[in-house]
Amino acid sequence: MQHRIIVLGAGYAGAVAAGRLARRLRREDVAITLVDAEPDFVERVRMHQLAVGRELRPRPFGEMFAGTGVEPRRATVTAVDADRGTVTVTDGTGGTGRLTYDTLVYALGSGWNTQGVPGTAEHAHEIAGRPGALRLRERLAGLEAGRSVVVVGGGLTGLEAASEIAESRPDLDVSLAARGDLGDWLSAKGRRHLREVFGRLGVTVHERASVTAVGADRVTLADGRSLPAAVTLWTTGFAVHPIAGATTLKTGDDGRIVVDGTMRSVSHPDVYAVGDAALVAGPGGKPLRMSCASGVPTAWQAADAIAARLTGGKLPRTPLRYVNQCISLGRKEGLIQYVTADDRAVDAALTGRLAALYKELVCKGAAWGVTHPTLGVPTRRRGVVREPAAQDPAVGAAA
Ligand SMILES: Cc1cc2nc3c(=O)[nH]c(=O)nc-3n(C[C@H](O)[C@H](O)[C@H](O)COP(=O)(O)OP(=O)(O)OC[C@H]3O[C@@H](n4cnc5c(N)ncnc54)[C@H](O)[C@@H]3O)c2cc1C
Repeated sequence: MQHRIIVLGAGYAGAVAAGRLARRLRREDVAITLVDAEPDFVERVRMHQLAVGRELRPRPFGEMFAGTGVEPRRATVTAVDADRGTVTVTDGTGGTGRLTYDTLVYALGSGWNTQGVPGTAEHAHEIAGRPGALRLRERLAGLEAGRSVVVVGGGLTGLEAASEIAESRPDLDVSLAARGDLGDWLSAKGRRHLREVFGRLGVTVHERASVTAVGADRVTLADGRSLPAAVTLWTTGFAVHPIAGATTLKTGDDGRIVVDGTMRSVSHPDVYAVGDAALVAGPGGKPLRMSCASGVPTAWQAADAIAARLTGGKLPRTPLRYVNQCISLGRKEGLIQYVTADDRAVDAALTGRLAALYKELVCKGAAWGVTHPTLGVPTRRRGVVREPAAQDPAVGAAA
């Protein structure tokens, strides 16, 4: 009988995990099903580009996984029963189905995080996913010259979004509200460059500005001031979907599934979590942040660990660490901030056009890795053994 592996979510992490599993295991031994609500791969790291009117190449899952041994299935996951080993899904017609797994890879990613700020859900836009980016695109396209756009959040997504909007719509009055100082986690060179580019693009920066409420045409700050905002774009981090939190899986306060260094759930050994959905300790015990940069290596780690455990092979040790933060500042400018393994900025940064090109190559490389799921992965297919015998627990926190 085949071992049933179900991968939930075909974003960066889920698609990579499914492709790698197919490369590591023999088709006669395993049935790999990849479930996603969308028909094609969504390049989330380009949602700010989609929002300003750029087109993204469609990448249907059917084509991506043709001939790989992975069966894509279009359905929305509504629940997971981690004790019974089942997943409840609905299809496009509203029909409900139940899938049974022997091993589950949970990779449902994340969405935007309103942080409960009043008015945000009703009035703010978001670009954490495609529907939000398309709504913002429509709104921006209809926005007359001189109107104000306030980007809330001075993190990576906020910086990328503010510069992208300002560059593509110089006729709008774009500002950014950051809780701290602009780019305060970056190196001195990085901060300088950021100010320079924002200055050139005409982005007004409101520093130490906490937004406490969002209205239809303004945002209110903690100090009582308010900023006019024909459009408010909310980018204050990501939040995971509530599905895992509703199971008996051990989750962190933020709803991410707590996993060990092999990405295996600490409460349910037949469940793995990868990408934004996983709460895993990185270097120094610090949880990895939600990002492609760490999400893709978690997928490699999970796929290799599952294959090792099923075949009695050696458990892998994929390094889960950071190298740099790649920030686009419009299409012509960028900032590559080099960081320590645990994501703290060091003194070196690459700026300017070269940085923009570097960032573009990173995005292209990530999409290539996802859309060619079995290429570039050495085939090391081994037979599944009846009594999996990989040496456990070999891997602790990621190193
Ligand atoms: C504008 C923007 C820019 C970014 N830039 C960067 C960057 O430069 N570098 C970086 O490292 N990270 C960046 N990120 C973060 C990065 O996109 C995410 O961390 C990454 O996409 C997480 O990958 P994932 O596979 O865990 O989740 P996702 O990519 O979100 O994939 C999850 C998948 O699950 C599917 N899904 C979700 N819920 C369900 C359901 N109930 N049923 C069925 N399917 C479901 C979705 O359709 C999706 O395909 C950026 C994010 C945004 C929004």
